[in-house]
Amino acid sequence: MPLYQNALIQLEEAKQYITDIPKDIFEIIKEPQRITQTALSIRMDNGEIKIFQAYRVQHNNACGPYKGGIRFHPQVNLDEVKTLAFWMSVKCATVGIPLGGAKGGIEVDVKMLSEGELQRLSRAYIRSMYHILGKDKDIPAPDVNTNPKIMAWMMDEYSQIAGYNVPSMITGKPIEVGGSEGRGEATAQGGFYVLQKLLELSKLNLVSKPKIIIQGFGNAGSIFAKIASDAGFIIVGLSDSQGAIYSQNGFDLEEIKNFKEKNKTLKNAPAEKYISNEKLLEEECDILVPAALENQITKENATKIKAKIVLELANGPTTPEADQILHQQEIIVAPDVLANAGGVTVSYFEWVQNIQNFYWTSEEVQKKLRPIMEQSTENIWRFSKEKNIPLRTAAFALAVSRIAKAMKVRW
Ligand code: NAD
Repeated sequence: MPLYQNALIQLEEAKQYITDIPKDIFEIIKEPQRITQTALSIRMDNGEIKIFQAYRVQHNNACGPYKGGIRFHPQVNLDEVKTLAFWMSVKCATVGIPLGGAKGGIEVDVKMLSEGELQRLSRAYIRSMYHILGKDKDIPAPDVNTNPKIMAWMMDEYSQIAGYNVPSMITGKPIEVGGSEGRGEATAQGGFYVLQKLLELSKLNLVSKPKIIIQGFGNAGSIFAKIASDAGFIIVGLSDSQGAIYSQNGFDLEEIKNFKEKNKTLKNAPAEKYISNEKLLEEECDILVPAALENQITKENATKIKAKIVLELANGPTTPEADQILHQQEIIVAPDVLANAGGVTVSYFEWVQNIQNFYWTSEEVQKKLRPIMEQSTENIWRFSKEKNIPLRTAAFALAVSRIAKAMKVRW
């Protein structure tokens, strides 16, 4: 089933709780406003030319300029980018920031590229999309396999074409070229604020040191592990694309981080047992944090999940069928559009700082991020209790109502 179908099912489920939305607007929201696909030809180090498919999908800009990351991955395709763009619109509206939704991607295995090839590919993406990007049009950011260094190349390419420095055209940049304090940690930090708020609101009776399993040890997952562990949670399971590790008494994260830096993978890192990525999700824990890719919790494994809370740092890790099963099992699912919205929120702060050319301390960033995450969580929690619906349906209903209102007042 195409991934976009998941997004449409989620939207359909929220429909009856969306206030005051004309049918036409609902239909418009179902489709992205613009899809751009280009074939990038790159000179490889061996002199050959290679073609890479590149995408930018701009879903909706009723609330502000389009916003969304760029993913480099061998499985990137139009269906995935379209879905991620849709979720970005919902996400920005979930936390009430004045931005719309977009997403980009290149179908590429970065592990096969040299540093020079990666830079040429990143710059080519900007050249081919220049006309649709810009600080008031569409502002990209990092996603899977893209990082601040790539953002700096992209910003430089854009600035060279424009003829002047334009830091506000992209976020997730290094601090030296206009990045924001706290952006690197923002997704994980925002997710942690959501988790703390949910623990308070749900009055779940967890043990004093809850156990956490994290799928994916990249930007979002590894930083979340550190924040949660510093706060007294025990990280018992971790995985990356090569395999999973589990230790009932928790990991020494410093040791794991050093192992990962040296070996580029968690595979065979010091642990009590080595298991498959799939099995990790079914292991004993209080909180499960998917922080890798889509469609990881499915109707096949949802009944075997033992966690009491699923905190979706990844986008789209739970299929709609699995969502229903988790809801029946009274497992609280903190939906992606809320749980990982800290990233886009601090991206928004970065864009604001670039435009003002006035920069905030990391304390100021945290001071602004925390209330947004906590208030959004509380609003969604209350709405879900009032209507007796899952948090995802509540988040979608509130977010799509916001987008619809911004569209309706123009009519
Ligand atoms: P990343 O590339 O830094 O890390 C991804 C991690 O997932 C890597 O450790 C990779 O090895 C692992 N992985 C891939 N396939 C796996 C599998 N089958 N099983 C277990 N692990 C697997 O990417 P990231 O930026 O951390 O993003 C991860 C997720 O979080 C994505 O869904 C992304 O869209 C979402 N997200 C990220 C941000 C952000 O600011 N980084 C913001 C919002 C959402």
